[in-house]
Amino acid sequence: MTTHSLYSQLPATDRLLRDPAFSLLVETWGRSRVLETLHQLQQTARTSIREQHSVPEWCDDWPAAVLSQLEHSEQRALRPVFNLTGTVLHTNLGRALQAESAVDAVAQAMRSPVTLEYDLDGARRGHRDRAIADLLCQLTGAEDACIVNNNAAAVLLMLAATASGKEVVVSRGELVEIGGAFRIPDVMRQAGCILHEVGTTNRTHAKDYAQAIGENTGLLMKVHTSNYSIEGFTKAVDEAELAAIGQDRNIPVVADLGSGSLVDLSQYGLPKEPMPQALIAAGVSLVSFSGDKLLGGPQAGIIVGKKALIAQLQSHPLKRALRADKMTLAALEATLRLYLHPEALADNLPVLRLLNRKAEAIHQQGVRLREQLNGRYADEFVVQVTACSSQIGSGSLPVERLPSAALTFMPFDGRGGRLEALAARWRSLPVPIIGRIYDGRLWLDLRCLEDETRFLEMVLQ
Ligand SMILES: *Cc1c(COP(=O)(O)O)cnc(C)c1O
Repeated sequence: MTTHSLYSQLPATDRLLRDPAFSLLVETWGRSRVLETLHQLQQTARTSIREQHSVPEWCDDWPAAVLSQLEHSEQRALRPVFNLTGTVLHTNLGRALQAESAVDAVAQAMRSPVTLEYDLDGARRGHRDRAIADLLCQLTGAEDACIVNNNAAAVLLMLAATASGKEVVVSRGELVEIGGAFRIPDVMRQAGCILHEVGTTNRTHAKDYAQAIGENTGLLMKVHTSNYSIEGFTKAVDEAELAAIGQDRNIPVVADLGSGSLVDLSQYGLPKEPMPQALIAAGVSLVSFSGDKLLGGPQAGIIVGKKALIAQLQSHPLKRALRADKMTLAALEATLRLYLHPEALADNLPVLRLLNRKAEAIHQQGVRLREQLNGRYADEFVVQVTACSSQIGSGSLPVERLPSAALTFMPFDGRGGRLEALAARWRSLPVPIIGRIYDGRLWLDLRCLEDETRFLEMVLQ
């Protein structure tokens, strides 16, 4: 067939629009969007004729093609997925899942005006962090608190508001880089501070800090080495010891704790993570940590500490630029309220609930699921329930692993291409399943799988 006669197979726009199926589309999606989509598809069809000398198959049913295109364009960029990667606080998958009470609080703050900076009793308390700051003081024993967009912002604000133009003394072993280009020396420069490194990569002593203090010293700083660990011949000065040096020389001590946990995780059999309240009790002037790491709340940066210093942060121009919005504050307040009832925390706070799951229970879940999905996959893969280890993620406790169980899929023919194809198919599901390819198998760590019914719906498609 000549190219010309192929072109003539494409129906004219007018004719298509007279089709009742198109009237229905126009009713639902609006005339301009339907027309725009139709023109795009016509263009695609012409290109195919020009380059491949063929009319695409979908041209047999134009209304269906337009509908499928419209539906595809409607798919949100931010979509729910199954996080079966084995990393509980996965930064690329949105870190902490929120508690139901936090979800409710956010929905309410979105639907209705809220008392963000308004006191119903007429007392004018100043800023939007007030109510949450009171809660944080109760939970950590701090004098006051400040909330910003994330912990990176918290560090920037602490430095800029208390030590701009001055020297900040930090151990060489703590000049960390967190993912996403957050590096302590760079943040220091952005805050207008002068980095004064002391000690060596593996060993820093109290006298290193003491000797570094001079006329222009603004702060002594501790940074939690959350995403790596230095082992062997090491020495670090802990926060309490540094706080004593600071108090002695009248210089504030700040700590970037990274994750921080408001409860002692060892009571759940989890590795211990430093707690902000312990640092406050030790006399550290300001402590910052993330809202969406172990705390299990929304993305936020939380700073607790001395009243006078927090007042400096609250009145700094950067605070206005870095402040948290009402949805964040609503979620954070609801999350913090759960800590007032610590006995129920492991049930109500999803992060803790997931971290607290025992390997035996996860293994049993695996056995249960394997029975149901093996038939669907047994032709191509050996499906097994295999012991594995989950990690907390987001730089929390980087070397600790939690015993867990995974469904593993190993191709009979040993071809890696099959694994890639399976992973790609699962990524294209309505609720994509995200696993991990490792050691010739595709691993689905079941620690974070709570909705089994939906998972089976997906994996059996
Ligand atoms: C995670 C982390 C940060 C950054 O916190 P965000 O909330 O991700 O901005 C800063 N410092 C340390 C030590 C961290 O672990």
